Amino acid sequence: QSKNLGRDRWVFYSPEMSEQLVRRREMERALSHAVARDELRLFYQPRYSLHSGRMDGAEALLRWQPSPPALVMPDSFIPLAEETGLILPISDWVLQRACRDALSWPGAFYVSVNISPVEFCRGDLAGRVASVLQLTGLPAERLELEITENVTLENPDNTLKVMQSLKRLGVKLTVDDFGSGYASLGYLKTFPFDGLKMDRSYMKDFPHSQQAHSIVNGIIGLGKAFALAITAEGIENAEQFAELQAIACDEGQGYFLGRPMPAGDFASLLHGMDKGESGKATGQPG
Ligand code: C2E
Ligand code: MG
Ligand code: MG
Ligand code: MG
Repeated sequence: QSKNLGRDRWVFYSPEMSEQLVRRREMERALSHAVARDELRLFYQPRYSLHSGRMDGAEALLRWQPSPPALVMPDSFIPLAEETGLILPISDWVLQRACRDALSWPGAFYVSVNISPVEFCRGDLAGRVASVLQLTGLPAERLELEITENVTLENPDNTLKVMQSLKRLGVKLTVDDFGSGYASLGYLKTFPFDGLKMDRSYMKDFPHSQQAHSIVNGIIGLGKAFALAITAEGIENAEQFAELQAIACDEGQGYFLGRPMPAGDFASLLHGMDKGESGKATGQPG
């Protein structure tokens, strides 16, 4: 069995491949109902200022719950959502939910939301963000958008325009998974980023390996040269946390400081802190 995928491209399907296609099609259909059926959930992972040692915000991380207790992780459905364009309605839901949740938190904690590169090419991202801010009333400076560096590779002119419109709204823009993609350093100068999140692979062997330590130190120096706030992702132990503070990394996030948790649990945590429990990282695993 074969199929002509346009000019000169013939692909031969094995039975396993068509089974995969059927499963993909089923997942696509189920995912297309996820918003209407209220199956999407946001988890929040605490983000800490390493200068004060206190929590100052959270990253929204998407989960899909087609039927409890199943919980589908983003890496297994975001790529499909991107390929099919379903990412647009899903992302609208994420933005609205995250802004509403952040407004309900005590204090002026910020929320960061992951934006798919697809959203830079399709649909009016800045317009969508503007209407969500207006609809929810969240002050723009409490919203941060995380964008992977690959977004700067395809159609840089358009990306720059969209980013400039987002900056005019007052939202913060951060490079996510810095150092994991193929972008050149020049893009840090070209694009109006406020922050940089080091890919969590850089925490492997940090701080004990001399080489890992030098690289992390170098990334922090590089970020500072571009006047960016530097976040370390994937902090898993007390040594990493302490050493990052010592070498003046600005922000931190990782299982040691807190795992991603359901929105309700995160709100309870904040309300507990509000009543006097310290939000300071204590050296106890999160
Ligand atoms: P990301 O934005 O880089 O998010 C960080 C990922 O690392 C999360 O995985 C988080 O649970 C995990 N993580 C945090 N701390 C640690 C740690 O100390 N150790 C280890 N090993 N992992 C840690 P998650 O939640 O599975 O999300 C995976 C990716 O899916 C995210 O990577 C992001 O690129 C994407 N994603 C999540 N939510 C959304 C969304 O709403 N929209 C879009 N477009 N993408 C999303
Ligand atoms: Mg992220
Ligand atoms: Mg990341
Ligand atoms: Mg990632």
